[in-house]
Amino acid sequence: MTNDHCLFCRIVDGDVPADVVHETEHVLAFRDVSPKAPTHVLVIPKRHIASLAETDDGDTTLLGEVMIAARDVARGAGIDEAGFRIVANTGGDGGQTVHHLHVHVLGGRALGWPPG
Ligand code: AMP
Repeated sequence: MTNDHCLFCRIVDGDVPADVVHETEHVLAFRDVSPKAPTHVLVIPKRHIASLAETDDGDTTLLGEVMIAARDVARGAGIDEAGFRIVANTGGDGGQTVHHLHVHVLGGRALGWPPG
């Protein structure tokens, strides 16, 4: 189920354009509009879940599909062997700005650590 007020749900519904790079029955991946690395893709469950903190134990399979899709995005971008990073900003202190669960797939350059 999607949420009319959620930006990423509107992307799932096709009401907001996105540069989709990968899609499965339950998962969508599209390029971040403000890329922080040569490859910067967001992977989301199509069903509205506000954040990782809002998931429950029944979401295990869906979360696995999100991670497998992130792997496939990295493979598709050709960054899987060099290395890449998965980030799921969660809640206020986590820096989450869009409240629909998403993982960032970042790569194509050496990434610093720790994050800010
Ligand atoms: P976060 O801060 O972890 O919630 O990440 C949200 C991300 O969504 C940011 O990196 C934004 O650049 C990105 N973003 C916001 N609007 C869009 C959009 N319409 N299409 C693609 N990415 C977006």
